[in-house]
Amino acid sequence: MASESVKVVVRCRPMNERERALNCKAAVTMESARCQCFIQKPGATNEPPKQFTFDGTYYTNQTTEQMYNEIAYLLVEGVTEGYNGTIFAYGQTGSGKSFTMQGITDSPAQRGVIPRAFEHIFESIQCAENTKFLVRASYLEIYNEEIRDLLGNDTKQKLELKEHPERGVYVKELSLHTVHSVVECERIMEQGWKNRSVGYTLMNKDSSRSHSIFTIHLEISTVDQSGEGHLRAGKLNLVDLAGSERQSKTGATGERLREATKINLSLSALGNVISALVDGRSRHIPYRDSKLTRMLQDSLGGNTRTLMVACLSPADNNYEESLSTLRYANRAK
Ligand code: ADP
Repeated sequence: MASESVKVVVRCRPMNERERALNCKAAVTMESARCQCFIQKPGATNEPPKQFTFDGTYYTNQTTEQMYNEIAYLLVEGVTEGYNGTIFAYGQTGSGKSFTMQGITDSPAQRGVIPRAFEHIFESIQCAENTKFLVRASYLEIYNEEIRDLLGNDTKQKLELKEHPERGVYVKELSLHTVHSVVECERIMEQGWKNRSVGYTLMNKDSSRSHSIFTIHLEISTVDQSGEGHLRAGKLNLVDLAGSERQSKTGATGERLREATKINLSLSALGNVISALVDGRSRHIPYRDSKLTRMLQDSLGGNTRTLMVACLSPADNNYEESLSTLRYANRAK
C-alpha cells in the first residue's frame, strides 16, 4: 500500500538562547509514546491545544541516533537491498533540518542522518557475502529552480534535467564520485556543503534558500549458485529542504521575494506529490510541477520508501510557522 511506504515524523529542537532571552513559552509539546504532538496558540489558554499524530515524535531531549534507529534504519536497509529511498527534512529556517541531516556537532548521539546512512551502508557492504557493491555519491542543490552540482568543477554551471526512456529522469552532467569508505563520504559531504548558496534574510543570517540533495547510488552485483550474475541498483536521496517560512515574516523584497516564491512552489509541489501518493487513489501524481519532484520521481512512490522529518521550534513566537509545518506534515501522512 502506498501509505505504508511514506512515513512522517516530527522533531522539536530545544529552545535557543534568543527564544529564552525573549521569555518565550513552549507552544509545542509531545507525547512520544503515543506519537502525538500538541500545539497551543499563545494567549488562548482556554482553547484546547491542536493535536496531531504521526509515525514518530521526537522532543527536545531525543537524539538523532534514536530517530535513525527507530525510523530511518529500515529505509536505508532497503537501499542496500536494491530499493530507492528518500529522507527529507522540512521546516522553517533554524528549526533543525541541517542539525538532523548533516549533524555537524561534537555529540556522537546527535550525528546526522547522512553520516549515519554512510556508516550503515558500509557496514552492510562489509557483512555481505558473494556480493559486490559499487558506491557512488552525488550532491546537488536546487536554487531558484536551477540545478547546480555541489561537487562539480564549476559549481556555478546550471545543469539540465533530461528524460531517457530507460534511465528515466536524470541530471545531465552531474558528477558521480566513487566512494570506498565512510571517511571519503564525509569528506564529500563537507566539501559540497561549503558550496551551497547561502542567503541572508532577517530570520537568520545563515538562512539557506536552496534545497540540497545528497544521493548515494548503489550498484549491487551478486552471483547465484548456478554462477549467474545479477545486478541491482538502489539509491538513497538525503534532502535538506530550503526553509519553509512564508516571505511576509522574513521581510523579503525583490530578488529574495522571487526566490521565496520559487521555494514555496517546490515545497508545495512536494507536498502535493506526497499527499497524492499517500492518498493512494490518485491516478495522477503531479511530479512535473517542480524540479525537485521531477528529479525525485523514481524515488517517491511505487516500490520506494520515503521519510519526512518535519522540524519545529518549540517557542510560542513561532506558533504560526510551527502550525503550518504540522499541517504540511499531516497532509503527507
Ligand atoms: P535549519 O537547518 O532548519 O535552518 P539548523 O539545523 O541550522 O536549522 O538549527 C538551528 C540551530 O539549532 C543550530 O544552532 C542547531 O545546532 C540547533 N539545533 C537544532 N536542532 C537541535 C536539537 N535537536 N538539539 C540541539 N540543538 C539543535
